[in-house]
Amino acid sequence: RAKHDGRGGYRFFEAAMDAEARKRRQMEIDLHDAIAGQQLSLMFQPLFDLSQTRVSAFEALLRWNHPTRGLVSPVDFIPLAEDTGLIVPIGEWVIREASRVARSWPDDVRIAVNVSPVQFRNPGLAAVILQALSESGLPPQRLELEITESLFIDNPQSTLASLHSLRALGVRVALDDFGTGYSSLSYLRAFPFDKIKIDRSFIIDLLNGDGAKAIIKSITTLAEALGMETTAEGVENIDQLDILREQGCSHIQGYYFSKPISETEVQNMLFAPDETVRISA
Ligand code: C2E
Ligand code: MG
Ligand code: MG
Ligand code: MG
Repeated sequence: RAKHDGRGGYRFFEAAMDAEARKRRQMEIDLHDAIAGQQLSLMFQPLFDLSQTRVSAFEALLRWNHPTRGLVSPVDFIPLAEDTGLIVPIGEWVIREASRVARSWPDDVRIAVNVSPVQFRNPGLAAVILQALSESGLPPQRLELEITESLFIDNPQSTLASLHSLRALGVRVALDDFGTGYSSLSYLRAFPFDKIKIDRSFIIDLLNGDGAKAIIKSITTLAEALGMETTAEGVENIDQLDILREQGCSHIQGYYFSKPISETEVQNMLFAPDETVRISA
């Protein structure tokens, strides 16, 4: 305890903590309302297949349009949704909505959905996926689940078992944000992911020396040997694209090609394609 303004400072700190806790509590109440109040929506960002020069998938990205705060980023509310368990109903809504939207797309265009670790560990996930597929009529191989490496830290055995049972439904599985988390290659051998998504941090570093380039090369070489696709996240310019192509990356995603867009804009991109959909091979 400090001598001078210690007590006052402490009280100030308590008050600040209270305010923080109240704000959090309010956000939690608001998040409850978000689902029922139709404040959630999805944006879709294309993944571009470099060898076929076409869009192979869209990633569904969640948005919360808060009545007073405006658009809240998923980075700011997903942690709260995870702590409170609300990610389970929210994640269910995402899977159903994404499946519904993707149903009207061409047969060779997939939808990728982010699955939080909390949602992944919920025993109801497989049933939710089955229901979303049956009510939308989306073929399972057109749904791709994006999971992160952190799932392998706590209980790798049960994670593997769950992955195998999800795969048995016919859906695809991608490893998101690869290279940022718990770095072990053993789970790449243990589970045949369909795709590895190389984290944006490596793409940012590409133009600053050879280290990131060498890492990309080793990831794409490894992925290819294991029969997995690679998607580079956050590609923002042609210089990055050129290096990624040269280092054997099979797919790209990022602002260079397209920002996340609305359901209507996706329809326009898919059904009224113009030169913006093509990039030089
Ligand atoms: P993520 O799955 O790694 O998604 C990629 C994020 O990078 C998205 O941010 C996307 O808009 C952004 N991005 C794409 N291209 C570029 C680029 O060229 N430059 C830059 N600077 N950023 C780019 P977003 O939409 O804010 O989502 C952030 C994270 O929130 C996602 O990271 C994902 O982990 C999580 N998230 C989003 N939607 C969902 C969801 O429905 N469920 C769950 N559990 N998590 C979600
Ligand atoms: Mg993702
Ligand atoms: Mg990612
Ligand atoms: Mg990432």
